[in-house]
Amino acid sequence: MIEDKNQSKTDLGSLGEFGLIDHLTKNFTVKQKSTIKSIGDDAAVLDFKDKQVVVTTDMLVEGVHFDLSYMPLKHLGYKAIIVNLSDVYAMNAEATQVTVSIAVSNRFPLEALEALYAGIKTAAGIYNIDVVGGDTTSSTTGLLISVTAIGTVDANDVVCRSGAKPNDLLVVSGDLGGAYMGLQVLEREKEVFKVNPNNQPDLDAYTYIIERQLKPEARKDVPKLLKDLGIKPTSMIDISDGLSSEIMHLCKHSKVGCDLYENKIPLDPQVISACEEFDIDSTTVALNGGEDYELLFTISQEDFPKIKANPHFSVIGFMKEEAAGMHLITRAETSIPIKAQGWNPIGDE
Ligand code: ADP
Ligand code: MG
Repeated sequence: MIEDKNQSKTDLGSLGEFGLIDHLTKNFTVKQKSTIKSIGDDAAVLDFKDKQVVVTTDMLVEGVHFDLSYMPLKHLGYKAIIVNLSDVYAMNAEATQVTVSIAVSNRFPLEALEALYAGIKTAAGIYNIDVVGGDTTSSTTGLLISVTAIGTVDANDVVCRSGAKPNDLLVVSGDLGGAYMGLQVLEREKEVFKVNPNNQPDLDAYTYIIERQLKPEARKDVPKLLKDLGIKPTSMIDISDGLSSEIMHLCKHSKVGCDLYENKIPLDPQVISACEEFDIDSTTVALNGGEDYELLFTISQEDFPKIKANPHFSVIGFMKEEAAGMHLITRAETSIPIKAQGWNPIGDE
């Protein structure tokens, strides 16, 4: 953990469980009309009128999903919310509430949890969601955070993984590979720091990719952008594990094949230069890196004019019959089968 010798350290045991919950959540305010009853009772009460409700959960485990030696706790709290909201937006829904459950060992002082909750509160503010509950328990070793996100969507607007048709265009928001290359830089600096703790790294050339790793954003704007453009995607998924694994999910659930064009994959210049520096192939990074939290979706061909000049979106391929399989069409115009190598800490998620 990043140690600050001057920081005060309050033992968690001194507050007790209820004192701790109260302390961490006392500044959370309710913003959503649908939140009738928030933290403090046996359960939250929500009222969504005639909307459909989407619910999703993700768990982050220390040593598996994050490393506190370069992940400040405030960023971790922020990221724990973002990864869940991303799943809500991937259903073409609007996120409204989250619950946050933590298991924490007594090696963490109160100040560490305050930092974690500061990140959670920042994300809740930016994404306009309410933290309406959670659970707090102890862990013998590491830190564990489980977030459940809730959102709403009109029944007609729900977009699943299963609706893609042959000839639909494959589209991605933003750019890919940044989070993975940011992690490479952070891991290298961690090794340098171990050898020489006085070394102050100059990370200016990597600000975008480090931010993509430490402070990812979820594409709250995309469902709205698409609605304003008059487009309902035929299928959609968020990119948590890497482009290849997400394409495979869309193809499998939609029973289609796909051609992905290598030269269409959007990459930020910092990703390209970091790939050169680390001698890693940028396409491999986009395909397998993960944690970019962009949205990958398919649209029908007739919607192409609505999207083609939009700076938020890149058309990167098109869907085919299932029997055609899934292929990457390289810059040299060879066709390579797409395989799943998504970042996968326990083999299967
Ligand atoms: P119970 O004993 O009924 O499970 P708790 O004492 O665990 O209730 O929780 C009391 C209230 O505080 C509930 O509203 C719960 O949702 C909320 N809460 C507990 N832990 C957290 C947390 N880590 N973050 C946000 N809210 C929490
Ligand atoms: Mg409880």
